[in-house]
Amino acid sequence: MKISPLAGHAAFAVLERARNFMQQNALPFEVALAATRAGNLFTTHTAVAVGFDRFTPALIEQYLGHYATERLGISLHDFLALGRQNPNNPSESFNMAYLALRGSGAANGVSRLHGQVSRQLFSPLFPHWPVDEVPIGHVTNGVHHPTWDSAAADELWTKACGKDRWLGMQENQEQQGIRRVSDDNIWQFRTASSKCLVEYARERLARHYAAAGASTETIEEAKHLFDPKILTLGFARRFATYKRPNLLLHDPERLLRLLSNTQRPVQLMIAGKAHPADKEGQALIKEWIQFIRRPEVRPHAIFLSDYDMQLTERLVQGVDVWLNTPRRPWEACGTSGMKVLVNGGLNLSELDGWWAEAYVPDLGWALGDGKEHGNDSNWDAAEAEALYERLEREVIPEFYTRNAKGIPVAWVKRMRESMSRLTPHFAADRTVREYTEQHYLPAAIACQSRVANKGIVGKQIVDWRHSLDQKWATLHFGSTKIETKGKNHIFEVQVGLHGLDPKAVRVELYADGVNNGSRVRQEMTILHPLADEIGSFIYSATVSAERPLTDYTARVLPHYDGIAVPFENSRILWQR
Ligand SMILES: *Cc1c(COP(=O)(O)O)cnc(C)c1O
Repeated sequence: MKISPLAGHAAFAVLERARNFMQQNALPFEVALAATRAGNLFTTHTAVAVGFDRFTPALIEQYLGHYATERLGISLHDFLALGRQNPNNPSESFNMAYLALRGSGAANGVSRLHGQVSRQLFSPLFPHWPVDEVPIGHVTNGVHHPTWDSAAADELWTKACGKDRWLGMQENQEQQGIRRVSDDNIWQFRTASSKCLVEYARERLARHYAAAGASTETIEEAKHLFDPKILTLGFARRFATYKRPNLLLHDPERLLRLLSNTQRPVQLMIAGKAHPADKEGQALIKEWIQFIRRPEVRPHAIFLSDYDMQLTERLVQGVDVWLNTPRRPWEACGTSGMKVLVNGGLNLSELDGWWAEAYVPDLGWALGDGKEHGNDSNWDAAEAEALYERLEREVIPEFYTRNAKGIPVAWVKRMRESMSRLTPHFAADRTVREYTEQHYLPAAIACQSRVANKGIVGKQIVDWRHSLDQKWATLHFGSTKIETKGKNHIFEVQVGLHGLDPKAVRVELYADGVNNGSRVRQEMTILHPLADEIGSFIYSATVSAERPLTDYTARVLPHYDGIAVPFENSRILWQR
């Protein structure tokens, strides 16, 4: 079961799944959850803590108090603990993302950067763990190219790579196929696509004017709007403030100069909508509409209302450049920019979401310095400045620099790089394959084994957890003996387990990664029990002496076959 809460409510499903299993097998809720959670995957979608739904304890009590005690058979306190960082803080609200995490066997973000941001966001649930060991990975979203490609794009790709191109592990084949397409063909394809979009925009605008009872001249004017030979920028968004839909409008006069340049003109297509309750979003749309209404702007820009998938489809098929200007790191992934790839559109985007992992200088353009700046208005102004610069100095000149045949050779080269290297990767089939291989299949297997025989493995897991709960506070480190012999350090560390089965834990030597290297996690094994201290053991491990002794620290972690640590049990005891 994939819990992918764009709104947090989906997380309640983990409770019902456990309750069902609990009822069928007459088990305590705790056991049922330990068994069934292995079959749930939590895909987190927001990049900021305020994006998580939270409810006050009173609200949970009012609506779910009865459910907890009567249906799940647990106290309200234990129920609230599922959604809290600190179960004993009576004023802490109930966090749906925490519930989702505790009800799942694994979690993922939706882009590499979002995985990183999510490890930070969820780190309070893994106290004393290094942030980069917080167990949240990522599967970057992809788009379904057959949905978004134009007829012309379909034809081009079919000729280059065959009909089954999106159906398998053929990233390499697709790359090679597009690389063989000539400049002439790529450019013909692009100009035909621009023509198509301009015709669509004219028709749509003329229809809009006619419906609004505009004059015949206005309707006629709409039918001649734009020119397929002019560089077309597209921007379609939900007008949410974090997406900064008005960054391009930061300096309206400069934007107007850029659009109306007689040598190298630009035309702009904006589409969007804001939530009716989002006054700020509505105001941003109004700003655009007011700008476009100015008579000197009107020939160069259009605002298309009723932003939906159909409109997106037309836009992504025809624009030359797709703009995206979110405030990093708020765009967890973003997918609209992926929709232009198959159609030969190029991206100019903030280094956020998918673009932070896709961007390479020769296949598009980037905004930002790859760091977070909050909602600092000075930074917004600096990025708006950078956006104009990028357009004026790089994008526009490259589009209008033509060879004798009228082809913008550098532009076409960039299109080919973007199409061949990005399209196959940011595709839904790659995404589904990663989910299947990394998550769905392992989760299905783990869940089957935990629920088999009326949840016997679930029971064992709960027993294990209880024994850790009982003994953990008594675990301690004793003396350490270290010897360096040739190329190795040999560590011998005394660990008191106080009757806890050594199989219930794993002792390891740990060293942070340095210089982007990976961290060291070397398992320590029992050399012998301590004769004079019952329940204590000498653990030993040998590590490379390339790193200094002081880099290494021993630690004790929970261990149980098939249990994800720290995902399912975040205890940790460090030697220092
Ligand atoms: C693709 C799409 C989106 C999502 O775009 P983002 O870049 O992820 O914001 C939103 N609405 C529509 C209609 C779309 O087609």
